Amino acid sequence: MNRSNQTAVITGVAGFVGSHLCDALLKQGYSVYGIDNFITGQAKNLDHLESNSDFHFIRADVSQPAANYLPKLLEPDVVYHLASPASPPRYQAHPVETYLVNSIGTHYLLQYLKTRASQARFIFASTSEVYGDPTEHPQSESYWGNVNPNGVRSCYDEAKRLGETICGVHTRDFGMDVRIVRIFNTYGPRMDLADGRIIPNFIAQVRSDHPLTVYGDGSQTRSFCYVSDLVEGILLMGTLQNLAGETINLGNPNEEHTAIQTAELVKNAFEKPGLELLFKDLPGDDPTRRKPDITKARALLNWSPKVSFAEGLRRVRDSFSN
Ligand code: NAD
Ligand code: UDP
Repeated sequence: MNRSNQTAVITGVAGFVGSHLCDALLKQGYSVYGIDNFITGQAKNLDHLESNSDFHFIRADVSQPAANYLPKLLEPDVVYHLASPASPPRYQAHPVETYLVNSIGTHYLLQYLKTRASQARFIFASTSEVYGDPTEHPQSESYWGNVNPNGVRSCYDEAKRLGETICGVHTRDFGMDVRIVRIFNTYGPRMDLADGRIIPNFIAQVRSDHPLTVYGDGSQTRSFCYVSDLVEGILLMGTLQNLAGETINLGNPNEEHTAIQTAELVKNAFEKPGLELLFKDLPGDDPTRRKPDITKARALLNWSPKVSFAEGLRRVRDSFSN
């Protein structure tokens, strides 16, 4: 039963963030059409929704025109475009798929929505990677970034930047209600422990009693946001009025840690203080530091993250030990 009479589309629904967003929308009474081609997602993230009549799964490639895979009569109220490989090893393994889904995939979805009567809100999942290796710290939305246009990360970074451009064109030139969220490093239950990101790697390593792999000298920083906080921000971004054309950072500025500190915090949370660190080469173009300025999210969404890193890691530990 669709209690809210609202319909949402989520691309990338089988992924880490998409599956949590889907649960939250279903809980609010939405009917959800979830799209995924499983390039990096996991079917098990959707197992619990198998008998939910408000959830409709469509296996499709979002880099194709949306009319090819969405039901003919669908009039969505809101579309969340999350489909994209997200971890550096995964997007570097699928560079063409990554730049297509964030560029032409975004274009096709917006062109499709332009033809619909429902005038849906469109939320694009951008990234802190648009700031590249930032020369400003913390990063606010007005900062244009410092991105290598032709490096190992550019299939992702530049495609997200082009995705943002495409969003901007559809807002300015076609009057559509398009909103951009720049997501900073997020972790939580249902992360793919094999996807190569720092938290999944460290968790896989502490669970199997292996040394924790720290890249470079481990002094680079990231700010870690728990997934329920992120999803709350994305939901506000999709439901509040008067946000057309806005770009908003979502992340946790209170939890900026170096890679070495992160390793120690994960070891503590998993009660494995004796595990050693194994230093490995720093990958190319690895940003040296990253922390969101969330002044805009506080002001426009009345949003700020609530879950501390220590608490979030405990929740992740419990979720992976079930
Ligand atoms: P994820 O890899 O777990 O999920 C992405 C999902 O998109 C997967 O299920 C994948 O199969 C699907 N997908 C990719 N290309 C597709 C295509 N062409 N057609 C259909 N489905 C496709 O990643 P995530 O961490 O859940 O990230 C979700 C979104 O948030 C991504 O757009 C990512 O760039 C963005 N983001 C995430 C983070 C983070 O820390 N998790 C940070 C910044 C931005
Ligand atoms: N990193 C690390 N050990 C790992 C995986 C990653 O030290 O096993 C570092 C990586 O070099 C980067 C940071 O952790 O500086 C975050 O990497 P991640 O892949 O999670 O995301 P990024 O923010 O770089 O996209």
